[in-house]
Amino acid sequence: MGFSGFKVVLTGDESLVSTYHYTYLGFASGLPMDVFPAILGELLFPTKSSEYGRMLTSQYGLCKVEATLLDSGFSREEVAIVDPRRLDEAIGPETRAIGVSVLDPLGLNYGTMLLRTVLKLMGVETKLQSYTSWATMKILEHKAIREYRKRLKVIVGGPGVWEIVDSGLQSKLGIDTLVEGEGELVAPSLFKKAMEGAELPSYVRGPPVPVEKIPVIRTPSRGLIEISRGCGRGCKFCNPTLLMYRVIPVEKILREVTVNVAGGENKITLHSEDFLRYGSTSLKPSDERVKRLLETIVKFPGVEEVSVDFTTPSTVMQNPKLVKECGEILGLTSGKFSIIEIGIESASPRVIEMVAPGKPKPFKPGEWPRVVEDAISILNDAGWWVCATIIISLPGEREEDVELNLKLVERLESYNVFIHTLPFIPSGSLRRAKGLKTSDILSMSERNLELIAVATYDAIKKIMKISSKLVAHAPLGVKQLLSSLLYIACIIGLRRLQRGLREISSFTLKLVSKEQVYSEQIREKSLQVTT
Ligand code: SF4
Repeated sequence: MGFSGFKVVLTGDESLVSTYHYTYLGFASGLPMDVFPAILGELLFPTKSSEYGRMLTSQYGLCKVEATLLDSGFSREEVAIVDPRRLDEAIGPETRAIGVSVLDPLGLNYGTMLLRTVLKLMGVETKLQSYTSWATMKILEHKAIREYRKRLKVIVGGPGVWEIVDSGLQSKLGIDTLVEGEGELVAPSLFKKAMEGAELPSYVRGPPVPVEKIPVIRTPSRGLIEISRGCGRGCKFCNPTLLMYRVIPVEKILREVTVNVAGGENKITLHSEDFLRYGSTSLKPSDERVKRLLETIVKFPGVEEVSVDFTTPSTVMQNPKLVKECGEILGLTSGKFSIIEIGIESASPRVIEMVAPGKPKPFKPGEWPRVVEDAISILNDAGWWVCATIIISLPGEREEDVELNLKLVERLESYNVFIHTLPFIPSGSLRRAKGLKTSDILSMSERNLELIAVATYDAIKKIMKISSKLVAHAPLGVKQLLSSLLYIACIIGLRRLQRGLREISSFTLKLVSKEQVYSEQIREKSLQVTT
């Protein structure tokens, strides 16, 4: 008898489960489809899968759900993480449950809103949904799901679930159960019930998982491995599940490195909210444990490169020597840099004290702008380019706070830092602080629009400077193409933004004169690209 479908199909939209050719271009999935048509998704978001669409490497969250189901008694034959482009091969009469992980199903998250605002500043009116949202809807409306709908349940989880909960669109989207929070403790019983054809609850909150119950993944996760979960600094706009801080033991981390290396993933990214706090029970870094972890992974047979994804300025400032040593262990130099993310959120001590009082600790909110600037300098010296976020229009923000943000962006111009100015989205304990319509989220003062324009202008210039490095890990055939595409997009973006900037009345003379200098540079570079 032929194959009649996996019993449990786990999947996510193609931009979520893609390898992105191992580049930093994943952010493009937040672009609206007016400027990012489906054909570009095929090019930028490749997926790797084998027989019946089973993925060879996938998103970490899906790998964890698969692992927790396998640990609870499901067999490898019953459960598969499936390529969303091959769902018709994986779903059949035997399928009883589809688990879908969502990141930004309705196109409402911070990155997507920033891209829409920037396009507006460039004079591009957008009407269509984001690529990620379109690709998520493509799964939920898939004909294979519709064909077997009476026999199977649709369970949706992941970081973007709040959008569906808050918009009340669950039944319209044909979803049986929404899982908010961490999935590992609740997934086994939900999927077992789906196997029996039993009724499922429409909403489940997944509690924080004790560290000993966090499973070890079986499918490679594109080299991404969690080293700690949660944060505990308690910013009000942040996901509440991050309140409980847990450190993953080295032995478990190494098992996941083994899974990845065996699957051909030789570049390992250690994921946490703050890698410098690995192994520490307080906000103070534990030097020995951080260094020992990095050294162990760097030396692991088969691993070619190791990177870390997040840190916090206040942790960096507690131990600059450790930051320098970590850069050395990872082999970073000014020519071989890595990118790390930090959250600035606001340069106003008043706003930080209101919405993120834990972020500067052990420093005072009043010291925050200095802590941020010094930490970026230390990270740059140790070999990291920094990707930093500022959240604008936070509840309670005043004009003088916006001025402080603008000043900080100007001061940081000479550093290796990209600043992303993200429009505030109602989230965390501020979830009801604002409406969910795009017009609610994007309404902001002219000075805040100026802040977005200035920061984006600066970021695009810097991206142009290092564009070939941002796609350095792509296979030879596509590297040149992606590098050229990114460069041309930067040129078009800068030109359009220059026009938009002229229309912002309060734009300062100093920056306008810089703008003319950049025009000359762009003209020169575009000549080089076209010749
Ligand atoms: S420091 Fe970052 S991860 Fe921690 S609570 Fe604040 S925003 Fe969330």
